[in-house]
Amino acid sequence: MFMAAQYPRILAQRLRASLRGAISLLSPGQWLAVAVLAFSGMAAFGVAPDSTLDLALPEAVTRSLPHPTVAALPGADAAGYWREERVQRGDTLGRVLSRLGVDDPDALKFVHADPVARSLYQLKPGKPLRVETDAEGRLLALRSLAGNGELLSLSRTPEGLSASIGPAPTEVQWKMAAGEIRSSLFAAADAADLPDPVTRQLADVFEGDIDFYHDLRRGDRFAVVYEMRYVDGEPVGVGRIIAAEFVNDGRTFRAFLWRGADGYEGYRTEDGSALRKAFLRSPMEFSRITSGFTQARFHPILQTWRAHKGIDYAAPMGTPVRATADGKVLFAGVQNGYGNVIHIQHQGVFSTLYAHLSAFAPDIHPGSHVAQGAVIAFVGETGWATGPHLHYEFRVNNEQQNPDSVALPNGEPLTPSETATFLAGVAPALRQLALAGSSPRGLLAAGE
Ligand SMILES: [Zn+2]
Repeated sequence: MFMAAQYPRILAQRLRASLRGAISLLSPGQWLAVAVLAFSGMAAFGVAPDSTLDLALPEAVTRSLPHPTVAALPGADAAGYWREERVQRGDTLGRVLSRLGVDDPDALKFVHADPVARSLYQLKPGKPLRVETDAEGRLLALRSLAGNGELLSLSRTPEGLSASIGPAPTEVQWKMAAGEIRSSLFAAADAADLPDPVTRQLADVFEGDIDFYHDLRRGDRFAVVYEMRYVDGEPVGVGRIIAAEFVNDGRTFRAFLWRGADGYEGYRTEDGSALRKAFLRSPMEFSRITSGFTQARFHPILQTWRAHKGIDYAAPMGTPVRATADGKVLFAGVQNGYGNVIHIQHQGVFSTLYAHLSAFAPDIHPGSHVAQGAVIAFVGETGWATGPHLHYEFRVNNEQQNPDSVALPNGEPLTPSETATFLAGVAPALRQLALAGSSPRGLLAAGE
């Protein structure tokens, strides 16, 4: 692919200006074929800790870009040339520096003699080393991330080289991924290089609308914009989902992160209404394990429900079972056909029942309060069960109902002024989602 091949060479040049030029050379098709990733002016799109998320959009580069922050390193605007090399097994410092084009015996002497710089000799394979040299190969600056997360820097001053070590700056960038479900959500996420924690977050975000256990269909699509944390250009972990879109069985759901004036963060649809519902659609936590059961079936929920006025979730013995809403335990014990069973009273006329359990979570007994999503028990095959599964009932006035057909209470709406702020804030993220969602196959192809 264009970017993957070109990038290391481009990096070796002075970057700020030239990279922008290179990016603009991409055709629209290539734009779609790369994941969007921030690279320039990193601080500008870190999420600011105020009441609205700062949705200033990053410029785009490929997700195969290993070190997007190089361009933003202090000193990147200086006159020299930045290069980067990964330390290889058996490397000596001299060998790595030589690969980086450093031709500077005095610098090697300095590293040997300086107590701070000496730690450079403790090379860890796989770690990147970045140097800036002038045209003659003289070392102007060097950066290396130490094992303890600190950043070792060498820099040349009029008095000569100096070394310092200190906390490495952490940066947050947005990444974008999109995919189409062929076998399972996790398989599609893997194909799109979506980290597992983001995939689980994606399921969490939409779990008020989609039963990820029963509702997924082949051809469902997702697009997600999420945070990635970098320490000196090294990805160190994912953050939150900023925006996401899920097309399930022809229905499109969108979610945008919103932080209220009280600091509470939650997801809202593009018109500002809360995504969080009073009930989760599924009592099963979505995971690689349970998703394996999902993909085996893709079967319509109604068939299951009509059979016996409940919804069955086949899952391995011991899989955690969650309360689908806040409530109070009415019953936790053994009943004939149900085996070990929990019945929970929720607000108003609603209650839920969880049967065939192998065990209850601690603190679950009649009268105990449970929060939505809390683990209350574990999958088993007690009572009249032919194999390990959860039998789940949704009841209205103690009568089994198909939750799909019941109008459920929604979360708190925004005030009109909050709505205006929200709508202004989500516009750029919405455009990103549209871009990703319009070509999931292109993105997938780029990842294969
Ligand atoms: Zn059942």
